[in-house]
Amino acid sequence: MTLSQVQRKILQLKEKEKTLILAHNYQRPEIQEIADFVGDSLQLCLTATKVEDFKYIVFCGVDFMAETASILNPDKLVIIPDVEARCPMAAQLPANIVVEAKKKYSDAEVMLYVNTLAEAKAEADVICTSSNASKIASKLNSTRVLFGPDRNLAWYTAKHCPGKEIIPIPENGYCIVHKMFRAEDILALKKKHPNAEVLVHPECDPEVQDIADFIGSTEQMCKRCLESTSKEFIIATEIGLVDRLKRELPDREYIPALKNAACDSMKLHTLEKVYHALEKKKPVVKVPDHIAEKSRSAIERMLKLSK
Ligand code: SF4
Repeated sequence: MTLSQVQRKILQLKEKEKTLILAHNYQRPEIQEIADFVGDSLQLCLTATKVEDFKYIVFCGVDFMAETASILNPDKLVIIPDVEARCPMAAQLPANIVVEAKKKYSDAEVMLYVNTLAEAKAEADVICTSSNASKIASKLNSTRVLFGPDRNLAWYTAKHCPGKEIIPIPENGYCIVHKMFRAEDILALKKKHPNAEVLVHPECDPEVQDIADFIGSTEQMCKRCLESTSKEFIIATEIGLVDRLKRELPDREYIPALKNAACDSMKLHTLEKVYHALEKKKPVVKVPDHIAEKSRSAIERMLKLSK
């Protein structure tokens, strides 16, 4: 891989400043190439807690991810290259909706997707990711579980936890990117590539999940591609994951289920913005202490329950 001039400048500055660059699986390929770690949101934050030597974290992801990194790493400065990189799905669940739902369903426990802002997380009993939602829900004491913001992940979780009543909050939360996938488009691709395995993210609609060979988080999809005997995969998630798969497992073929399935918020970060963030040490993401403390205990409960 030949690095561009700006990539080389970033790597030099990063080395000098003891900075860790974390990039989500949905970042632009040129950013993935210079990151210390590429992964899903939780994996990235946990990685940061294990790396003692770094003072700064440049987080190439969206707002809730940088917040989670800051919550789990209070002694490090978390910097986001473009502060406008906000997840539209996380914005669909402000803390007051969680508070109202708790009043209405006082017997329910609150499990929130990691894709929520810190203020909402502070109202949760536990957090989950797309890879552990069913496992965590099944370990909760109450039969009723309030879950948000993604309705499709709520549907998937309910399907895998028969004894639980999963109540979505808000009623129709969704990811604009995963909503774009349609079962008929994927079935048409499958006709052209009959040997391909169909890998689908649980944020996709139930009709899309129903035709999948495999449903999982982005990390689980990477693992599946590594372990499967198949050499062709139809990938139904944000297009950035295809870039990662091509780089890490180049001997297989990846067919995007939708070529324009790009998250505009994720793609706001550019190499130039990463360089400026490194140089100026801003914009900084910091969660107020009282919110960080409450959110941290919900995240830590997830870590305990997911073992
Ligand atoms: S892909 Fe969906 S859930 Fe992820 S940051 Fe973009 S809008 Fe949010």
